[in-house]
Amino acid sequence: MKQGRKLSNLGIKWKLLLYFVIFSVVLLALLWVFQIVLLEPFYKAIKTSNIKSCAESLSQNLSNENLSTLVDEIGTQNDTCVEIYEITDLGYSLVQNKEVNNKSIIYQIPSKQLVEYYNSAKDAGGTYIVTETLKSGIGDSHFNKPQKLENQGQGQGQNGTSGNGDTEYNGKRPPLDNDGMDSMVYVKLTTLDNGQQYMILLNSVITPVNSTVETLRIQLFIIVGVMLIISILLSIVVSKRLAKPISKINESAKILATGDYSVRFSAKGYKEISELSNTLNYAADELSKVESLRKELIANISHDLRTPLTMITGYGEVMRDLPGENTPENIQIIIDEAERLSSLISDLMDISKLQAGVQTKQASVYSITDSIESIFARYNKLRSNEGYNIVFEHNENVLVNADEIKMSQVIYNLVNNAINYAGPDKTVIVRQTVQNGRVKIEVIDHGKGIPQEQIKYIWDRYYKVDKSHKSAVIGTGLGLSIVKGVLDLHGADYGVESTEGKGSCFWFEMPIETDNGQTE
Ligand code: ADP
Repeated sequence: MKQGRKLSNLGIKWKLLLYFVIFSVVLLALLWVFQIVLLEPFYKAIKTSNIKSCAESLSQNLSNENLSTLVDEIGTQNDTCVEIYEITDLGYSLVQNKEVNNKSIIYQIPSKQLVEYYNSAKDAGGTYIVTETLKSGIGDSHFNKPQKLENQGQGQGQNGTSGNGDTEYNGKRPPLDNDGMDSMVYVKLTTLDNGQQYMILLNSVITPVNSTVETLRIQLFIIVGVMLIISILLSIVVSKRLAKPISKINESAKILATGDYSVRFSAKGYKEISELSNTLNYAADELSKVESLRKELIANISHDLRTPLTMITGYGEVMRDLPGENTPENIQIIIDEAERLSSLISDLMDISKLQAGVQTKQASVYSITDSIESIFARYNKLRSNEGYNIVFEHNENVLVNADEIKMSQVIYNLVNNAINYAGPDKTVIVRQTVQNGRVKIEVIDHGKGIPQEQIKYIWDRYYKVDKSHKSAVIGTGLGLSIVKGVLDLHGADYGVESTEGKGSCFWFEMPIETDNGQTE
């Protein structure tokens, strides 16, 4: 037994479960970090920026006649207590104040604390922020005891409110319910254009987040449980829905593997799975086609091989037994048949190389016109002996950059086909035309042509329009497949136009090469 299964060996169900669990854990970790670990810093940062912007807008509106309305609004909207003092050489006096709740610290701090705030703000460059912990009865209310700030003199406020006592509370503050609470105090000193200095004092209670954190913690534990259960259920349901069609495909694939190409893949449910089914159905169809072609080919090849072999042995025996039969003609027949055998075998080797994709082209610049001329020389005997009319029509000598041997194979195969399927006029025309920097070679015959519906198949290996094996001249169904392979290798355009009863024109086209090796 192997220790521990590899991750890639896990089934869909376990993998999905794993992904869901990872997803849940990441989600929960994020929630944990933001809601529990970072809650307090976040809250404090928001509070701080809030109190700063309140102080800023107050400091900009100090000379505004609606200052008291603004102080009211800011205090109520932000749940912040506000005090604004006018500072003079003599001391300070309260100009505006807003008390939003009785938890405020700035209404109960001792006067000397107020002086400390002033000094701290002054030292810190105009603003000062501090978090204090509230305690009831922290000291006397500075409302009643205005003090001189710097020279400890007795101050007289300009609006006359200082030193008059706290009219609202009359020295008695309501009981505080804020023991132990943190409270943020923000001090901002502002000097107006006329030189008048003010101290803005803002105070906001920091609601303890501990109880919230505790609630969130419990909630998170519940969420963890719920998420895990949902993950498990989802992975089971999804994996079942996903795995079912896949195992159905697997069953059919196993049947296909045994060689039964009639098997159908019918799994559906997802676009990809339907596509896979279609692809496999296509593959099965193709395999069955190849299989029947293969059987046909074996039958054809064995017939093709047997014909020349029978001839060779037959003539050989006759020549051995009857001395008078030892003529050059008979020997020529043996040689011709042996050549047919070897060309059949080299065709088979070419096709298998092209199919395996191992063939590479050895491109060089050569004259395709000269090359066709020299191929034509081989047909001289056919011309004179069998009355074939094989014509090469061309106006100029054209260079191409290609693999000469392979291109000769293409021309040879096309011309051979045209001869094999030539009409009663026994005429084959090879036409070379040049247009737009490209050379087009057409191989034309006036034979029976190819039925329109068969044209797309003739390039397939082993394909023969006429399955009956009537003549030893007719090939194996490999020629055009070799032509296609070579032309594809060169990136050439090619095609066929054929009219039944009138003949066929096989053509290909490729760029011309100039003398200096440049493609035109
Ligand atoms: P084959 O060795 O049988 O000629 P090919 O691959 O060269 O094999 O050709 C495939 C089939 O295409 C041939 O069997 C024949 O039916 C058809 N074909 C090819 N060339 C011609 C042509 N010039 N005229 C009519 N049919 C042709």
